[in-house]
Amino acid sequence: MNISYKPFELKLRHPFTIAKFSRTFTPIMLLEISHEGLTGYGEASMVPYMGESIETANSFMSKVDLSWLKAPFNFDELIVYLDSIASGNPNIKAAIDIALQDLRGKIEQKACYKYFNADPAKMPPTSYTLGIDTPEVILQKIKEGESCHIIKVKLGRDNDQELINTIRSVTDKPLYVDANQGWTDRQQGLDMVLWLQEQGVVLIEQPMAKDDPDSNAWITERSPVAIVGDESVQRFSDVEKAKGVYHGINVKLMKSAGMHEGYRMIMKAKELGMKTMIGCMSETSCGTLGAAALAPLCDWVDLDGPFLTSNNPYKDPDFNDGKWQLSDTPGLGLIKL
Ligand code: MG
Repeated sequence: MNISYKPFELKLRHPFTIAKFSRTFTPIMLLEISHEGLTGYGEASMVPYMGESIETANSFMSKVDLSWLKAPFNFDELIVYLDSIASGNPNIKAAIDIALQDLRGKIEQKACYKYFNADPAKMPPTSYTLGIDTPEVILQKIKEGESCHIIKVKLGRDNDQELINTIRSVTDKPLYVDANQGWTDRQQGLDMVLWLQEQGVVLIEQPMAKDDPDSNAWITERSPVAIVGDESVQRFSDVEKAKGVYHGINVKLMKSAGMHEGYRMIMKAKELGMKTMIGCMSETSCGTLGAAALAPLCDWVDLDGPFLTSNNPYKDPDFNDGKWQLSDTPGLGLIKL
C-alpha cells in the first residue's frame, strides 16, 4: 500500500465570516492511498479553529504505517491505531479513513454508500450557507445559491435580525441558522429563537458556548425550533453527552475522524432518539462525496463545500433538485479534473 499526500489551498468564493473569525482560503491536505493499481482519495480540510495545519498533518503522517492493514480494511482497528498515534488530529485521520473507504469500494466494486445501507432515494436536500456580510453581498450570495432549496445563515452578531430581514425580502425558502456559540445570554437567546421561528427557521446550531451544556439545555428545553449541537459534538464519545442538551447533533467527517466514526455517531444519535444533521467544512468534492454517502441516513444535510469554493480540483458531484446524487460507481465516485 502506497500513501502520498500534498497540501492544497482551497479558495473560497467569498471571504467567509462567522461569529468568531474571517478567512479567504482553507488549507487542505489531499491524500491518495494506492493498492494493486487502484487509488483511494481522501481529504483533510484544516479550518483554523480546529487547530490542525499542514505542519501537524505532515507530522502525523510521518508516524503512520499502514503496512499491517489488509483489504478488506477493518475500520474499527484502523481508528484504534490512528488514535494510538495521537488523540487529536481528526482532520488528517478523516483523510486516511475517506481514502481507504474509497479504495475498499474500488477493490470490491461497490459504491461507498452501500456499506452504510444508505438509500439514495432518501437523500435530503442540502442547505446553502451564507456567512455574515453586507446586505448587498448577502443578496448576491442568495442568487448564487439559487439551486438549493434551503438557506443556512450564520448569526451571532448584533445585526442578526437585519440579516434575516434582508434574506426574507427576497426569498421564503426554509432557513437553518448557525449561531456558532455566538449567543451569551439565555433569555436573549430564547427570545431570538422565538423570533426566528416566526421567520421560518427550521433548526438552530450551537446557540451558546460549546462548554456550557446547562445554557444550551435551558434553551433546548424551551425551544419550539430544533436545537443542534455542533462544536460541542466532535467524536463518538460526545454523542451520549449531547442527549438532553440538544435535540440533535451535527456530524462532520472532519470532526469524527472520517466516515466510519461519522456513521457510528449517526446511528448512536438515532438510538438515543436524537435528530441528525451532516455538515462539512470548506471541502472539495472528495469530502463532500464522503459525507453524501452517509447523508440519506440523516434528517438534515448541509454539504455546500463545492458551491462555496472556486478551485475544486475534482468534478462537482452530480446535483439535482437541490440534492446530491449518489452514483453507483465503485468507491466515492470522485472524478479528478
Ligand atoms: Mg455549525
